[in-house]
Amino acid sequence: MTTANVSIHRAAEAIRDADALLIAAGAGMGVDSGLPDFRGPEGFWRAYPPYRRLGLNFVDLANPRWFRDDPGLAWGFYGHRFQLYRATPPHAGFATLKRWAERMPHGAFVFTSNVDGHFQRSGFAEERVAECHGSVHWLQCTGRCGRGLWPVKSSATTLIDLDEESMRARAPFPACPECGALARPSILMFGDWQWDSTRTTEQEARLEAWLGGIESMRLVIVECGAGMAVPTVRRFSEQAAAAAGAMLVRINVREPHAPPGHVELPLGALEALRTIDQLVSAS
Ligand SMILES: [Zn+2]
Repeated sequence: MTTANVSIHRAAEAIRDADALLIAAGAGMGVDSGLPDFRGPEGFWRAYPPYRRLGLNFVDLANPRWFRDDPGLAWGFYGHRFQLYRATPPHAGFATLKRWAERMPHGAFVFTSNVDGHFQRSGFAEERVAECHGSVHWLQCTGRCGRGLWPVKSSATTLIDLDEESMRARAPFPACPECGALARPSILMFGDWQWDSTRTTEQEARLEAWLGGIESMRLVIVECGAGMAVPTVRRFSEQAAAAAGAMLVRINVREPHAPPGHVELPLGALEALRTIDQLVSAS
C-alpha cells in the first residue's frame, strides 16, 4: 500500500472503532461548497474584485471600525457574506460526518472557526456546535445598550440591499431591536474589542462538559481545512488529541503536517471524507 492508502485505512479504522467523534473545521472545509477561503490578498480579490480597486484586503475589511466609520462598506461586505452563506448548500462531506456521528454511541461535537453555520444546517444539533469566531447568523448592537445577541430569522435570505458593483450596502442597515442603533454580525473581527463572545463562551462550556463526559471512551478527532494562518483550530485539535489520547486525522490540502503518530491527509475535505467513507461504510 502507498503511504496515502495507509493513512486512509488508519483514519477509517479509528472512525470505525471510536465511541465519539470530535470534528474540528477551518476555512478549507467550506472551499468544496464553493465558498472563498480568503487565502492571501490575491485569493480574496479574485472573490471580491471591487475591493482590489479600493486596495482593501480581508484583514482591512474584517475590522469593526467600519461599522462606525462607513456602515455601507461594512454591511456591504458582511451582508454579502451572509447572503452567500445562506444561498450556498454545504457539500456532501458534511452529511458524511453526520452519518459517522450517528454510528457513535456518544455522537459528535463540532469546533469550528467558520461563521457560516453550515454544520447546524447539515443537521448537527445547535448544542453540539462551538463556533469560536461567532456566527454570521447572529447580530449584536453597536450601541452597547445591553441587549444580548439575537438571531437573524431563519427564513431570511438577505440582510441588506447590496450594490454588487461597488459592494456597498444601501441604507437602511440592520438595527438593534432594543435601541435602534446600528447592528453588526456577532463575528470576531481583527482588533475586535466589541465582539460579544457570550454565545461562543456558552458553546465552549458545553464542549468542555461533553469532553469531560467521554473521558473513558475512545475518541477520534477529524480536522478539516484548518490552516496555520490563524491556528486556533489546529491548536485545539492537537490539545484535545493529547488530553484524550485520541487519534487526530488532519485533512489539509496544503498544510497536512500533524504531530507524530497521527494521520496526515494532504487532500481537500470533500475528497478525503468521501475516500475514508468508502472504507467506513463498507464495514
Ligand atoms: Zn441596542
